[in-house]
Amino acid sequence: MAYIRAVDGISLEVKKNETYGLVGESGCGKTTAGKTIIRLLNPTDGKVIFDGVDIAKLKEKDLKPFRTKMQIVFQDPMSSLNPRMTIGNMLSEPLLFHGIAKNKKEAEKIIGGLLEEVGLKAYHVDRYPHQFSGGQRQRIAIARAVSVRPSLIVLDEPTSALDVSVQAQIINLLKKLQEELEATYIFISHNLAVVRFISDRVGIMYLGRLVEEGKVDQVFENPLHPYTKALLEAAPIPDPRKKRERSMLIGGTPNVIARPTGCFFHPRCKYRTKLCEQEYPEFVEVEEGHKVACFLYHK
Ligand code: SF4
Repeated sequence: MAYIRAVDGISLEVKKNETYGLVGESGCGKTTAGKTIIRLLNPTDGKVIFDGVDIAKLKEKDLKPFRTKMQIVFQDPMSSLNPRMTIGNMLSEPLLFHGIAKNKKEAEKIIGGLLEEVGLKAYHVDRYPHQFSGGQRQRIAIARAVSVRPSLIVLDEPTSALDVSVQAQIINLLKKLQEELEATYIFISHNLAVVRFISDRVGIMYLGRLVEEGKVDQVFENPLHPYTKALLEAAPIPDPRKKRERSMLIGGTPNVIARPTGCFFHPRCKYRTKLCEQEYPEFVEVEEGHKVACFLYHK
């Protein structure tokens, strides 16, 4: 049997009230990392320190108080919302389960406010998910996540399935809610423009590991890792007069089951040396807060 190490030895620290963007190609482990951080998946090893408590190995009953503090919004609201439940019933469930509302009447009052908060109307409570547009459904998913007033929200490609005009509305809504809740966001996406707009710091993942991390301006203005540079070169430029540089990526998409030896990126890297094929580079700090795993930056 073959095992996939979807996430392997990553270490990231997310500060209170910041937005940490987690970027990479599909299959790089960013969704697994996000789900593991909030214990939707159980890590096989390592720690997840949340508010000073290692929640990695807590039993489900001990996790309950943390469940309200950590929420997730998925990419496809249609599959994350129960098609047989009205919006009102769906939103009242977490409120009643976690004791935020004492009874249905109190829940209804909270839900009315919640719907207004995310740009919907109180009369939407009796409708079903299929009666809404994609953008409205994502607003409902966001309302459900914020209903329990979490301090951490993992946003897993929350705008990828939406039209560009709706994406902007959802991003603005997320920013507004973050200020109101003083929440911390982990924003998972392959859309570099959106990540740049919303994030304070960003981590670039490749085959289950972080290869670069820094403040948004550090990573976008001065990318260090050859993979980050290739991602930025491949991003669309909204100016038809600008010519695109040829991508520096060589070779095809890697096999996640049989990861390369040494630096996982070496089969696609034009700077690779013999050492890159043999050893994995340490994650080193090149300037304050800006880290990279690449031998080009080892002294
Ligand atoms: Fe390329 Fe070597 Fe740096 Fe890996 S360690 S990214 S192969 S130069």
